[in-house]
Amino acid sequence: MEQIGNARPDLRSAIAALQALMPGAVYTDVDLSALSRWRVGGIADCIVAPRTLDEIRTLMRFVGDAEIPYVVIGSSSNLMFADEGLRVLGIHFGAEFSQLRIEGNTVWSQAGVWVPEFARQVARAGLTGAEHVCGIPGTLGGLIYMNGGSQRKGIGDNIAEVTTITPSGDIQRYDQTSCSFAYRASRFQASNDIILEARFQFDHSGEADAIRRSMLSILRQRREKFPRKLPNCGSVFVSNPAMYDEYGPPGAVIEQCGLKGVVHGGAQISPLHANFIVNNGRATASDLLYLIHKVRDTVRARTGYDMPAEVRYLTPEGELTPAHLKAEQLFRQPAPVTAPANRFDAASSR
Ligand SMILES: Cc1cc2nc3c(=O)[nH]c(=O)nc-3n(C[C@H](O)[C@H](O)[C@H](O)COP(=O)(O)OP(=O)(O)OC[C@H]3O[C@@H](n4cnc5c(N)ncnc54)[C@H](O)[C@@H]3O)c2cc1C
Repeated sequence: MEQIGNARPDLRSAIAALQALMPGAVYTDVDLSALSRWRVGGIADCIVAPRTLDEIRTLMRFVGDAEIPYVVIGSSSNLMFADEGLRVLGIHFGAEFSQLRIEGNTVWSQAGVWVPEFARQVARAGLTGAEHVCGIPGTLGGLIYMNGGSQRKGIGDNIAEVTTITPSGDIQRYDQTSCSFAYRASRFQASNDIILEARFQFDHSGEADAIRRSMLSILRQRREKFPRKLPNCGSVFVSNPAMYDEYGPPGAVIEQCGLKGVVHGGAQISPLHANFIVNNGRATASDLLYLIHKVRDTVRARTGYDMPAEVRYLTPEGELTPAHLKAEQLFRQPAPVTAPANRFDAASSR
């Protein structure tokens, strides 16, 4: 068996019990930087990847009874792991939990389904409405949690019902209204429920070819605009509506502040799109957080607006927090501002 000697005592005994309950689904001493989209993070004591609903029920009953703290991890395309790793149980949803079924206009999908594959299957059935997510590299569970999307849409627009499991092992169902979807927000961000599956309604166009062409065009635009070769987590900041009206979207504002291409350690504000931070090969989470802090500080000084981070930082204790809050805590000293506050015309980007 893998080394579990460094895990905290309650987790150490839980790991042994879980290995007996769910053989083959429990991984110890996992290098988070290998799992991470950003390629940063220390060692996680234990990650469990349940494969069936029965395994999830067993797992939740176990963690509930033993009061084991946990955090849910999808494909980490919106997550920054800590350099210090993870000391609580990570529950990972991915390929092991990814069934999808389509009947007429209705699509049922488990949380581990890969979002681009979801969009492809919906399109193949002649259904329209999922094209905007075809280039988003995440799991469906993470997408629903973030109400992610593009082209000014969110996945919540097509959701009829989301099924979750609560920390005490109960199954809950939420219709679209009770999901409280808003721009990159959902009710799930304020709960410990795990999203298991969702039911969607799409329009039937019957024009599978036209839908395919529209997806190809979206993918082409994304390839031109976004960095693809270096590890990144997509857009780091969400748009602040008041700032957008006055100055434009985050990428344009960061660029106007002269920060495009700025390097700190192994991290860099992408020279291709300033709302992306890339790992040039040896970045740490701390390097990324420094740049997040520097961007926020500079933008605040130049425009008077605060930009919240979309990306979430996962503390070693399993707390999820918008990355800018962690960055502020670490680098409270304001980053040097090189130009006086002034106004500028913002070009538009994403
Ligand atoms: C290159 C690139 C481009 C991107 N483009 C876009 C874009 O255009 N639009 C957009 O909205 N996003 C975009 N993203 C961000 C990201 O892909 C989405 O937010 C994504 O769907 C998150 O899914 P994930 O599986 O990676 O979740 P993770 O990053 O692993 O997790 C994100 C959050 O969701 C929670 N979570 C994950 N799964 C579950 C579950 N089953 N139950 C409960 N909570 C869960 C996690 O705890 C975490 O808090 C992009 C990312 C990258 C790297």
